[in-house]
Amino acid sequence: MNRRKNSEAERLNFWEKLYIPEIAKGLGLTFSYMFRPKFTRQYPEERFEPTGSYRGRPVLVLEEDGERCVACGLCSRVCPALAIEVQAAETEKEKERYPEKFEINMLRCIFCGFCEEVCPEEAIVMSKDYDLVFETKKDAIYGKDKLLVPIAELQDRLEFLRQYK
Ligand code: SF4
Ligand code: SF4
Repeated sequence: MNRRKNSEAERLNFWEKLYIPEIAKGLGLTFSYMFRPKFTRQYPEERFEPTGSYRGRPVLVLEEDGERCVACGLCSRVCPALAIEVQAAETEKEKERYPEKFEINMLRCIFCGFCEEVCPEEAIVMSKDYDLVFETKKDAIYGKDKLLVPIAELQDRLEFLRQYK
């Protein structure tokens, strides 16, 4: 141990052994950063606007004539965190099934995007929403009231998927 310490000390030159110049150099570097442009964001006053490639919380696409989801259950099967619960029901429309119940447990979701990848209808997509606040476990279970988002608000992501999926 002592031998190692000695060999480290031997590698230092005269000025480094004095330490004071090295401390001054370190302080100089710190001060020089004080006058450079700052990249810190004052969140939540200054918000971050993500691009279409961002993977925020998963949401369901809501079109003018209703939700796109046909309750096939693929997203629920593929979800590695077992966060999605879908219950299908019949419709009278051309589209035969719809999700009577669709829930995502946001405490479980790991934002992997598998649900989006597997969906045959492009009905579930990753949004730009990263602001998730809940006080109880129950609040973290998002139902259709929170999951359905108008298609107009998801254009960036849908465009991104069309280009890169
Ligand atoms: S993003 Fe991943 S973890 Fe979250 S609901 Fe979709 S598949 Fe499950
Ligand atoms: S969101 Fe897509 S994958 Fe999930 S149940 Fe609906 S149609 Fe099927």
